[in-house]
Amino acid sequence: MARILKGAPVAEALDRGTAHAAAELARRGIRPALGILRVGERADDLAYEAAAVRRCEKLGVAVRCVNLPADVKQGALIAAIARMNSDALIHGVLMFRPLPPQLDEAAACGALMPSKDVDGVTRESAATLYYGEGEGFAPCTAEAVVALLEHYGVEIAGKRAVVVGRSAVIGRPAALLLLQRDATVTVCHSRTGNLAEITRGADIVVAAIGRAEALGAEYFTPGQTVVDVGINYSEARGRLVGDVDFEAVESAAGAITPVPAGVGSVTTSVLARHVVRAAGGAV
Ligand code: NAP
Repeated sequence: MARILKGAPVAEALDRGTAHAAAELARRGIRPALGILRVGERADDLAYEAAAVRRCEKLGVAVRCVNLPADVKQGALIAAIARMNSDALIHGVLMFRPLPPQLDEAAACGALMPSKDVDGVTRESAATLYYGEGEGFAPCTAEAVVALLEHYGVEIAGKRAVVVGRSAVIGRPAALLLLQRDATVTVCHSRTGNLAEITRGADIVVAAIGRAEALGAEYFTPGQTVVDVGINYSEARGRLVGDVDFEAVESAAGAITPVPAGVGSVTTSVLARHVVRAAGGAV
């Protein structure tokens, strides 16, 4: 049976460093603070917001939530972002996406001050990721994937990593972070042919496709490490499931992250860490 790589121990380890750095800042009179910008009332945004608030407050990071109606106009959204940009007491901003269709998401992301972009949505953050240097932050979920692998001592350098999914928020940044750590990286997507053949050749498989239990045992071989980023509601099972069919793969892979309680549990810890760093904390 595969080793189960749970997120909670990773989050706890990250949080120890974050809380320490936040306390150091507090001694200098700085209270790190996150601004959360939510448009509408999407259930997954609300769940993530509640988890982020809980995590941040536990670690000494203040949170200010601004909620805009689902039918908000672009001008009002940009004005809300501008207010967070100019508020010296807010060090990082998280804006939930996707935004409703009437809004120009690229323009909204571009309006955010790069130094406060703790979830890596601006082009400045993307450049940091691309070049492997700079002040920007990686998207929290992508960084959580790597934090989890590193916590469990999974060797990355020199290993073959396959990332399934190429979104700007998870697949691409996860691939770049793995490349930075000297993995040999293949990125797959919906047009990839022979996907199972490619994933079976990997040492590490990161699944980020957003399809409930789409990757079954035939995609994996013994000894592989499988990181399942997917969070999907399965009508059939009546609960959240990943992109990987956990029950089928548990006996085929070497190690696997569960859903829930895997990568998702690490994401808010990475977010809090980014806020503390944006506030000047050494973490
Ligand atoms: P997304 O924007 O929909 O991107 C999905 C990617 O998967 C696309 O690149 C798509 O290919 C590819 N894909 C779709 N079906 C495929 C298939 N059958 N075979 C191979 N590739 C396929 O999704 P996302 O925002 O990256 O999110 C991915 C998953 O992560 C979702 O389940 C989401 O809920 C979850 N998520 C988890 C966290 C967390 O904290 N754990 C945070 C955010 C999101 P194309 O590019 O060709 O369309």
